[in-house]
Amino acid sequence: MALRELKVCLLGDPGVGKSSIVWRFVEDSFDPNINPTVGASFMTKTVQYQNELHKFLIWDTAGQERFRALAPMYYRGSAAAIIVYDITKEETFSTLKNWVKELRQHSPPNIVVASAGNKCDLIDVREVMERDTKDYADSIHAVFVETSAKNAINKNELAIEISRRIPSTD
Ligand code: GDP
Repeated sequence: MALRELKVCLLGDPGVGKSSIVWRFVEDSFDPNINPTVGASFMTKTVQYQNELHKFLIWDTAGQERFRALAPMYYRGSAAAIIVYDITKEETFSTLKNWVKELRQHSPPNIVVASAGNKCDLIDVREVMERDTKDYADSIHAVFVETSAKNAINKNELAIEISRRIPSTD
């Protein structure tokens, strides 16, 4: 079975749950006291998609360097960029829109853009409506998934949707 390596980077404000999403995807666990990412961390996970193995090479950035010199290092050569926001914090959704503009200007033209509305377990304090993000994501041809790293909601959906959008090598 063919093995493809897919570099993926996570972008988004500090505290939205980037590391927790990766941890849930790779280890299927959640650590409420997860250490803030310093610099960037790297993890891999291989999953089967149709007749291929997709090895995700995941770069989890610290967030603080948004729009600064470091960020392009992570999205350069990436098959996909996952921009994470927190559904309970409207301002993190504005950051997502800024990231989309940044990626449009500087990333590989065929990069798959995915938006992840994390902490969807906290519906009582929701500030960003699912419908609004869905409409926005559709308008820019981006993947959109709401996730809860805490409650394991849609833990594999981002990977599945990214795989679906990567052209097959057949
Ligand atoms: P990062 O800075 O974007 O990597 O965010 P972290 O993964 O470090 O998470 C920041 C905080 O949000 C931590 O206290 C996590 O426990 C919490 N968190 C992450 N994901 C979720 C989630 O899906 N639901 C809830 N309720 N809290 C979460």
